[in-house]
Amino acid sequence: MTTTHPNVDPIEVAKFEALANGWWDPEGESKPLHEINPLRLGYIKSRCKLKDSLIIDVGCGGGILSEALATSGAIVTGIDMGEMPLSIAKLHALEAELTIDYQQITAEQKAQQSAGKYDMVTCMEMLEHVPDPISVINACAQLVKPGGDIFFSTLNRHPKAYLVAVLGAEYIMKILPKGTHDYKRFIRPSEMARWCRQAGLEVCDITGMSYNPLNKTFKLSDDVKVNYLMHCKRAMD
Ligand code: SAH
Repeated sequence: MTTTHPNVDPIEVAKFEALANGWWDPEGESKPLHEINPLRLGYIKSRCKLKDSLIIDVGCGGGILSEALATSGAIVTGIDMGEMPLSIAKLHALEAELTIDYQQITAEQKAQQSAGKYDMVTCMEMLEHVPDPISVINACAQLVKPGGDIFFSTLNRHPKAYLVAVLGAEYIMKILPKGTHDYKRFIRPSEMARWCRQAGLEVCDITGMSYNPLNKTFKLSDDVKVNYLMHCKRAMD
């Protein structure tokens, strides 16, 4: 399969192909994903049961969240359009002795195959890399069962996010390669909430993930100006 689907930006996917080899290095270029992972897992666990839940992780990359969900007892499918991140994810799951079904397919295509199949959809740090995030949100809403849960995370189009996530992380601290994030594609929580509601979802909660440069740690917070998590539920039919 190629990356010629209209809602896949080959330039964006190529950025992650280049990162794939170091994906599981906690000190490498995916360091922020490793650092926020316990926070987002804790957030999900505080709101939903994971044991035996059928979950699809959309834009799973090298599988940092997919593996954490599987380790917590969920039955996980991970989808992404990056070939290299997916091969790294498959290899790592094998080494970790976890069974995760990784597939190279878009959320939109998967939604046509498996509508209403999943107890939960997770889609983290991915919407800011696609040409049409609304189309992915709609696909996620189709993938989840009525009454099921969806967790999104993304970056806010707020000047503080430009300072922290672009200038800070890419240019000053050099944690991420330059050009990883395009500010124009960041999404305000109000836009996200509107798009989710238009997709038939109820927005249950929005929580920030903020970075403290002094002790170099992330925490869940009320500050949604940079990075935030959103918990939605699909209405019962
Ligand atoms: N969700 C993972 C990885 C985030 S990195 C985590 O948070 O740990 C963003 C991922 O989105 C990359 O792996 C990239 O290949 C993927 N991606 C970008 N555009 C995509 C698209 N249109 N469809 C599916 N995956 C996409």
